[in-house]
Amino acid sequence: MNLLPFGKLPPAKPRSFVPETIDLGDWPQIAPLFDQLEARAAQATGAAAFEKWLLDWSELSAALDEESSRRNIAMTCHTDNDEAEKAYLHFVENVEPQLKPRQFALEKLYVSHPQRKNLPKSRYQVFDRDVANHVELFRPENVALETEEAKLGQQYQKLIGAQTVKFRGEEKTLVQMGRLLEEPDRALREEAWTLVANRRLQDADKCEEIMEALIKLRHQIAVNAGFENYLEYIFRQKGRFDYTPADCVKFHDAIESEIMPAVREIQNERGQKLGLEKLRPWDLAVDPLNRAPLKPFANVEEMVSRTQKIFNSLDAELATDFKELHDKKLLDLDNRKGKAPGGYQSTLSEARVPFIFMNAVGVQRDVETILHEAGHAFHAQATRDEDLYPYRSAPIEFCEVASMAMELLGNEFLEEFYTTNEANRARKTHLEGIIGFFPWMAVVDGFQHWLYTHPGHTRAERKAAYLKLMDRFGGEVDYSSFEEARAHSWHRQLHIFLYPFYYVEYGIAQLGALQVWANSKANHAQALGDYKMSLTLGGSRPLPELFAAAGCPFDFSAKTIAPLIQLARTELKKL
Ligand SMILES: [Zn+2]
Repeated sequence: MNLLPFGKLPPAKPRSFVPETIDLGDWPQIAPLFDQLEARAAQATGAAAFEKWLLDWSELSAALDEESSRRNIAMTCHTDNDEAEKAYLHFVENVEPQLKPRQFALEKLYVSHPQRKNLPKSRYQVFDRDVANHVELFRPENVALETEEAKLGQQYQKLIGAQTVKFRGEEKTLVQMGRLLEEPDRALREEAWTLVANRRLQDADKCEEIMEALIKLRHQIAVNAGFENYLEYIFRQKGRFDYTPADCVKFHDAIESEIMPAVREIQNERGQKLGLEKLRPWDLAVDPLNRAPLKPFANVEEMVSRTQKIFNSLDAELATDFKELHDKKLLDLDNRKGKAPGGYQSTLSEARVPFIFMNAVGVQRDVETILHEAGHAFHAQATRDEDLYPYRSAPIEFCEVASMAMELLGNEFLEEFYTTNEANRARKTHLEGIIGFFPWMAVVDGFQHWLYTHPGHTRAERKAAYLKLMDRFGGEVDYSSFEEARAHSWHRQLHIFLYPFYYVEYGIAQLGALQVWANSKANHAQALGDYKMSLTLGGSRPLPELFAAAGCPFDFSAKTIAPLIQLARTELKKL
């Protein structure tokens, strides 16, 4: 039974190292390929032989990555299929743990190889820097600590996943409760919000304990690797060679001075429309004019054909790329029973084609998602000719420029789904969402800066530090009689627990996306050309060069932010 919508797809380039008939889910068949690569490293006595060695390693990594993606796609498209689940778990449990040390052994061979210095400098600069960094930071004593860290992450997810409330006699998850905050009935919203806030507070102590254990572990991991604190360590560990913690602090300050005035303006306008003296936390998600939700399409075929029309209007090449996704069945978009929740874009690394997964139900959010994931897909398609596997993907800070810029560029043609009035309503919600994201990002990132540079802090000091950030970035929302809920609102942000310091990458990318959009207002053809050109670079250049190719400065200070927010405010006034 074939569980994949796209079936068999040939590799983009014929294999020259990995055997055609190999079963890439069977470790005993894979291990000899790593043995061969290890043995061959010593025989690569010239630069050309060493490059061929790198490409063979690349071919193997891509084939294994595609095997893993295929199994993950099959499972998420058919969560009720035992065969798919078994195949996925087999790979995770029997192949991946074996792979990691073997990949690391090849990295070490690379770093100590005499031919390394003879490789063309600019071509291998990023690859070389990343591999050397990975090898340098490895400490055997951190392996057990990282396992411990992952376990604490699981504990947090279990705790949050088990949270439910009884609402009017029915048990509801907090995600279900979140939807009630869009209801026009204000008393109902207040009831729903209060129930959720109180339920979260019941687990507050446990969240604090998990965080305290995580801070201790992470500090130790950093010290073991020779760093003063986890902040310094994580910047190196994430390969952030092109920006510093101080740049991020500057980013937070610029959000306060340049973006908070726009946030307050949006909040005041919302309050006025709702006829409220003060906005309360349950007034932030409802449509301020109490209109029914937008209905962009009736079924997924319609969503795809209208999205195709958006790309036809935007750019002929991108239109061809999107059509390829449809023609090769690289889309699974409808919400149906037996499918995992959420949305993602995955790449089949050997065939070098993208795949988009989502759960469309006919709301405006679906249109945003398909444009976003299409942006990621275009990125994957643009790097198809790159043979060095690690260069076929870029760092998150730039990947999300590809996707978020596509939301903004695609939004110019929302009339494919709506009347002009409706399209403007969707654009307004989208732009306000972008502006409103920055202050929360500043809270989440600034809080983590504080947490890990004050490793011996008390619970009371932590609370005070968080509240200071909420005062700077919380805007005009009145939390009176819910002070405890406000003081612990970070407990719901999974990234703080599971993906430390990751959140700022979205903020950096969103600035790039706004810049592409601003450029397109000034010169549409040039902006789109630069955007497409930057995607072809994949991860082969450092971040500032990827940004520069897309026509964006790699700078998060007020100088860059002020004109972007000015443009967003001007555009909002037209909607
Ligand atoms: Zn994304």
